[in-house]
Amino acid sequence: MKCFFKKLLICALCFVCCGCGSNTMSDPWNTVSGPWNYTDTAMGTVMQQGLYCREEETAQKFSQNVERFAEELEQEMLSWRLETSEVYGVNASAGSMEGYPLSEELAELLRECIALSEASEGAFDVTLGPVVRLWNIDSWALGTQTEGFRVPAVEELEQALNRCGSELVRLEAGEDGQEKVYLQPGMQLDFGAVGKGFALTGIQALLEEQTAMTGAVISVGGSVLTYGRKPDGTSWKVGVVNPFAPSSFAGVLSLQGQWFVSTSGDYERYVEADGRRYHHILDPATGYPADSGVCSVTILSEDGMLSDGLSTACFILGPEKGMALAGAYGAEALFIRTDGDVIMSDGMKQYWTSNMQ
Ligand code: AMP
Ligand code: MG
Repeated sequence: MKCFFKKLLICALCFVCCGCGSNTMSDPWNTVSGPWNYTDTAMGTVMQQGLYCREEETAQKFSQNVERFAEELEQEMLSWRLETSEVYGVNASAGSMEGYPLSEELAELLRECIALSEASEGAFDVTLGPVVRLWNIDSWALGTQTEGFRVPAVEELEQALNRCGSELVRLEAGEDGQEKVYLQPGMQLDFGAVGKGFALTGIQALLEEQTAMTGAVISVGGSVLTYGRKPDGTSWKVGVVNPFAPSSFAGVLSLQGQWFVSTSGDYERYVEADGRRYHHILDPATGYPADSGVCSVTILSEDGMLSDGLSTACFILGPEKGMALAGAYGAEALFIRTDGDVIMSDGMKQYWTSNMQ
């Protein structure tokens, strides 16, 4: 019996291989199938992959590589929780005179974060770790978990905020040329606002290293990468969640080729208490959840880290200043205000179809 199934499997594989061999040279697109869909958890959120290639087996192997990549990025570099990660080491070194040696990748990411902090006049702040920990944001799950929640006291927030500020980070090359970071006592880096977009840039590199995958849409939480093309040439459709009814879309972006789309919204992680919503996007000026009159911001960019970082920064800045910041980085922006109005950059309009009344 076992042997029978084995034979069947071999036949099936042969069928797939033979079926694909026919006319790929003349037109590589018409033998491409998909999307082959995979859903997994990565970086504390859901990762979805829709892959286009000839064979399911190739798609499956590639999707596993992507999952492994995201897992390793978290374990070895970005997690503030896992002792194995570089960020954990950096945070543990806060206050030391020796500093902490950084990989080129993390040094570059940190430099970009500090630049975004300056450009956003501190609205985006990669050193906000002490305040993020105080609110215990990572324990919140989509508004369901209120147990043990308390609003931090004003004095606690003040103390935590005193340990924040990108201008307090010192990044210097040592005699051997390796860069080291020096944090003041109690400082904590938190890459939660850029990690998913940064991961998608790495995944884009994985896609470019191979030729089998001719198109892909990959999302990690609220950040999406579109790559290549669909076999029928139609555009990628990236839905933007309706913040007032998060199981539906406020609209859709129709995109061709490679893009990064990130959305930051007050519906993603929050707790409801005392009749108000405490969400996960914090204003470094106050330490409280940002209250700029928007409930979601979507950024379209050619850069993964920027799309993610700008969506967070623009949420805090609100439509007017946020639009200027996105424009300065050559990105397109779409704001959904708490009154339901949708405001977007001129460049965004060509991609957007609204589902809202
Ligand atoms: P996002 O969902 O991309 O907007 O990122 C939100 C996450 O970034 C939060 O869960 C925090 O870990 C972190 N964060 C919150 N507020 C800020 C801020 N003002 N600047 C940088 N990171 C932040
Ligand atoms: Mg972000």
